[in-house]
Formats: sequence, C-alpha cells, structure tokens
Amino acid sequence: MRRQEYRCLNTNHSRTNVPVRFCPMCSEVVNINIPMKMCTQDEHACSRRNSNKYCVDCGEQLIK
Ligand SMILES: [Zn+2]
Ligand SMILES: [Zn+2]
Repeated sequence: MRRQEYRCLNTNHSRTNVPVRFCPMCSEVVNINIPMKMCTQDEHACSRRNSNKYCVDCGEQLIK
C-alpha cells in the first residue's frame, strides 16, 4: 500500500489544537485559527537555533 502525499513527519499534522500556525518542517498551516505574527529577527534567530526549518509564527523559511 502506498502512503498518500504525506511527506511531512511532524507530529503537528496529526494533532488538533496545535499551538502554532505553521509546521516548522514544511511551513504548511496546521492551525488556521492562530493569527499570523510579525516576527523580529531575534525571534527568527531563536527559532533557527531550535533547528526549525520554518518559522511557526509567520511561515518564513529560516534555514536555506
Ligand atoms: Zn509539516
Ligand atoms: Zn516568523
């Protein structure tokens, strides 16, 4: 049996009421009810240190 187009393994996708808007691994919206945030460079630097590929608040790519 083939898996569906489910490439991202982040647990955010299988949960409800995720506390973040974007998935840090694929930048897909995981909770549409969370408003988009305007992030600062510091917040992105911090998020990058946690090895998030994408920002969970605005969906911006942090690691290229
Ligand atoms: Zn994902
Ligand atoms: Zn951000």
